Amino acid sequence: MRRPFVAGNWKMNGSAASNKALLDGIKAGLAGVASTEVAVCPPFVYLRDVAGQIQGTHVALGAQNLSEQSAGAYTGEISAAMLLDMGCCYVIVGHSERRALYAESDAVVAGKFAAARKAGLIPILCVGELLEEREAGTTEQVIARQLDAVLALEGIGAFAQAVIAYEPVWAIGTGKTASPEQAQAVHAFIRNKLAAQDATIAHQLRILYGGSVKASNADELFGMADIDGGLIGGAALLAEDFLAICRASA
Ligand code: PEP
Repeated sequence: MRRPFVAGNWKMNGSAASNKALLDGIKAGLAGVASTEVAVCPPFVYLRDVAGQIQGTHVALGAQNLSEQSAGAYTGEISAAMLLDMGCCYVIVGHSERRALYAESDAVVAGKFAAARKAGLIPILCVGELLEEREAGTTEQVIARQLDAVLALEGIGAFAQAVIAYEPVWAIGTGKTASPEQAQAVHAFIRNKLAAQDATIAHQLRILYGGSVKASNADELFGMADIDGGLIGGAALLAEDFLAICRASA
């Protein structure tokens, strides 16, 4: 049985004061979502504050990115060990904004996935196709290519300690959500692809959906057989919306 998982990606939003207010709101409603694993991924600079504020709750801490390097002359970068030091359990890897805006290739993403695992963090590996790719009928090829880069470097065993987030790029922050059937089809493709290498690992792996998930569409999406929760952007910035999405996953 896969435990539902909902993670909030706060992106480059918030302040010390607004983060505290958001977390106070989330903590006030947590009792209603005890069966769901919940994580928040604030910007790097707030990780320590947030770690303190979620102490004693079942909210886990995640980061939004990391360096594929372990230490040294990489100005502005943050290593996996530093994230662990701040209390992170999770780190998002290969978010489409990183791939598109910061030119992260499949190889770089795979390197980040490996660096996270090596340090003991659980990577949340984002995969997803562009609108043109969906329209050209190449969604599965794109997802397969993104997964193969990680499989080639790390092997199927690495997915025993990882989470995948299927995030169609055309649905992120656009208000357009994949239909439950569209999302389920890709989730099933991912699980079957990994099951061809190790059925147990594939069966236990949590595959989240991300892309304009809201309180109003979460129920339907999370009702699909291979959707185990969500990676939430915009709706993770409002405690009531985030909690409603968590409740829908249970
Ligand atoms: C995301 O950025 O991972 C995301 C899913 O964003 P949104 O929910 O705002 O589409």
